[in-house]
This record gives sequence, C-alpha cells and structure tokens, in this order.
Amino acid sequence: MSGMLIRGAAAIVTMDAERRELSGACLRIAGGVISEIGHGLVPAPGEEVLEAAGCVVTPGLINTHHHLYQTLTRAVPAGQDALLFGWLQTLYPIWARFTPEHMRVSAMTGLAELALSGCTLTSDHLYLYPNGARLEDTIEAAGEVGIRLLATRGAMSIGESDGGLPPDSLVERESAILEDCIRVVDAFHDPAPGAMIQVGIAPCSPFSVSRELMRDAALLARDKGVRLHTHLAENDEDIAYSLEKFGCRPGQYAEDLGWTGDDVWHAHCVKLDGAEIDLFARTRTGVAHCPCSNCRLGSGIAPVRAMRDAGVRVGLGVDGSASNDSSNLILEARQAMLLQRVARGADAMSVREALEIATRGGAEVLGRLHDLGSLEPGKRADIAIWDVSGIEAAGAWDPVGALLLAGPPRVRDLIVEGRRVVADGQMATLDLGRLIETQTRLARGLAESA
Ligand SMILES: [Zn+2]
Repeated sequence: MSGMLIRGAAAIVTMDAERRELSGACLRIAGGVISEIGHGLVPAPGEEVLEAAGCVVTPGLINTHHHLYQTLTRAVPAGQDALLFGWLQTLYPIWARFTPEHMRVSAMTGLAELALSGCTLTSDHLYLYPNGARLEDTIEAAGEVGIRLLATRGAMSIGESDGGLPPDSLVERESAILEDCIRVVDAFHDPAPGAMIQVGIAPCSPFSVSRELMRDAALLARDKGVRLHTHLAENDEDIAYSLEKFGCRPGQYAEDLGWTGDDVWHAHCVKLDGAEIDLFARTRTGVAHCPCSNCRLGSGIAPVRAMRDAGVRVGLGVDGSASNDSSNLILEARQAMLLQRVARGADAMSVREALEIATRGGAEVLGRLHDLGSLEPGKRADIAIWDVSGIEAAGAWDPVGALLLAGPPRVRDLIVEGRRVVADGQMATLDLGRLIETQTRLARGLAESA
C-alpha cells in the first residue's frame, strides 16, 4: 500500500492525551498507520498528496449502537409517532419478512450513510434472523463499503406466546442462539490491532430473552474474549417492566447477571439513577448514547453530563434507522451537545467534548482506544476530513467549533486503514446511485406487501 500525505489542514484535531489541535499541519500515512504528524512535511516519492487547506481533520467517528437492517423501515407511517413498545409491535411483522438480501442491502445503505458522515468504525446489533438471514449478510456489506464493523450477534427468545413482545416467528431457541454465537465468533472475530471485523454477543434486551440466556451470554463472551452489548434503561416503560418482572432496577439486574465490566456496553441508559451511574463508573461499563433516537421515541434525556463527571465511558450511537431515522454520525454529535444543553444549560457540553465522545469516547466503549480514536503516530489511519470552507461554515471564526455549530454534515474525504472510502464527497468503494435504487425497490416491496 502506498503512502499518503494530508497537507496544510486548517486544524488537525488529534484527540491525543493532551487533546492537541494543530493548525496548518500535515499528517502522513504509511501501511495503513499514521506515521507522522507535524508542520512542513514534504511528500515522499510516490506518496499521494491530499491538500487539506480549509479543512478540519479529525479521527474517524465511531458509532457504538445501530441496527443496520432497519434502514429499510425508515419513516414507516404507523411507527412515526409511537412509543418504544408500540413502535416495536408495528415493525416486528415487517422485519419478519426480511431475507438475506434485505439484510445485506439495508446494511450497505446504513454503512454508506455512516461513512459519508465521518464514521470509520460502527458496531451493529442484529437480533433477528428471519428466512435464513445470518450475521454474514452484514459482515459482507461492511467489506464492500470498507469501514470497520463490530458485528454483534443479537437474539430474542421470548415470543408473544411466552408473554414477550415479538411474534413467535422472530424468536429463536436459546440453545440455537448460543450455538450460533460460538459459530460467528469463531469464524469472524479478529482480536488483532487494526481488525476490520470483530464480533460481540448481544441479546436484544432484558425483556426479550430469559435471565438464563443473559447469564450464559456473559459467560460465553468472557470465555471467548469478546464484548457484550444490549439495550438498558431506555425509558420509563423499561424501568417499570424491570421492577415488575425482575423486582429490581436495570442496573441491579445487569450486575447480578455479569453484565457490568469494561467489556460491556449498554445502549441508551436514559433512565440510569445516581447509584447506577456510580456502578457503571466503578465497573468501567460503557454507554452508547443515542440522542436522536431518544428524542424521536420521546424516551428522555440521558444523564450524559452526570455520567461523564462520574467517569462513565460514553460513546455515541445513531441507533437503528427506524428510530432516528438517519445514520448521520456528525449530526448525532451535534444533537448530543444540544440535548445536554437543553437539560443543563449552555455550558453543559462543548463542541470539543461532543467530538471527543464521538471519537475517543467511542473507541473506549468498543475497546479500541489502543489502535483507534485519536490521531497519533502508531495508530491506525482512520481519518475524517471536513471541508469547512463551504456555505454552511463560511466565515466561521473557529473551524473546529464550526464543525458542530454550523456544518458541514458530510465529509469531504474518509480514510479507513489508509484507504479512501469517501473521496471528494463521493463514495469511492461503491456505486451509490445503484445502491439507492436497490434499497428503494426493496423498501417498496415491503410496503406493498404490508
Ligand atoms: Zn437500539
């Protein structure tokens, strides 16, 4: 792989230990790794040069929660104004008709959208496998799009006939779930630095699997050395369900079943109380904060300020595209900043802190800070280049501040492992027009047979 020199950026936001920002600096990539950052670097023979005047260069953004398959159920009329449980019951019958092709195309759509908004690593939470769908469908999509994926093998086992929410056709036997978890971890999880594909284990939520499966999943994940993920404390209904069925709050339930620790991260956590925030901080348990989804479903404002002050690790998540309904990660960072301000005042979260959560924070939550999440020599070359000289940010006094206060909402270039995934604002790895056509055809098909 030949090298690349990014030259003359208005600002390089390193997110290193000192959170240094360099103006007019250059960054050199060799062999998929950042080799040098500094002023006045001269191109080596054969090196590609990317001029970055008028641009802000940041670490690639990291998305810690998604359900990529849901891009095919965006803006479904009956789900537009429903609360979480009603929203799920509207969508389950549609998802039950998905095939492997729906899974692959919807994932590519979400992944391309993420890439265009600066994301270089995403996790995905796939918890239903109708009609022969497999985790491979999503993994293949990530390979085509070219961004890193932490694919989690989700699951649901309590169907309607057992008092659960999902239809029986969407749930699996718990023994089959565990077997498939072992299969996909053994087949696809890469523990090495620079890994493009990793696998985690992720029962959908405490209300869609048994206590036994939650505990067995945690034991299995520890045995295999992979991460654990689920939804937790998303809204008031969720807390009420936990108190009624389990006789305790979600934090207690998680702790009792082995679901705390630095290899665990929970999505949402909107309703964590003070004791639960302390528990998460003490055990280094991570949180995927999904502000747009929380707004969209009216779940509330997650106590991110209190979490960060207590030392909880927080990353950002766009959440599934049926509850956002977009996968734009830079706008999610903006929303995170705005929402803390709604709750706690204009000084509750700065642009820089929101950018930190979107980069370094996500790397910590997904266990990748050793190789990703900041721009430093020796780290993998996952880099987002934002043109702040366009109309959105024209005349901005502070180019880094402008990135969240003004725009742009899309990258100019995106580099993953030293390779360009977005070049001059266009996907470099796939034909976006064709993908949109296929996605639209599949979505229409689902709508017509609904
Ligand atoms: Zn979710």
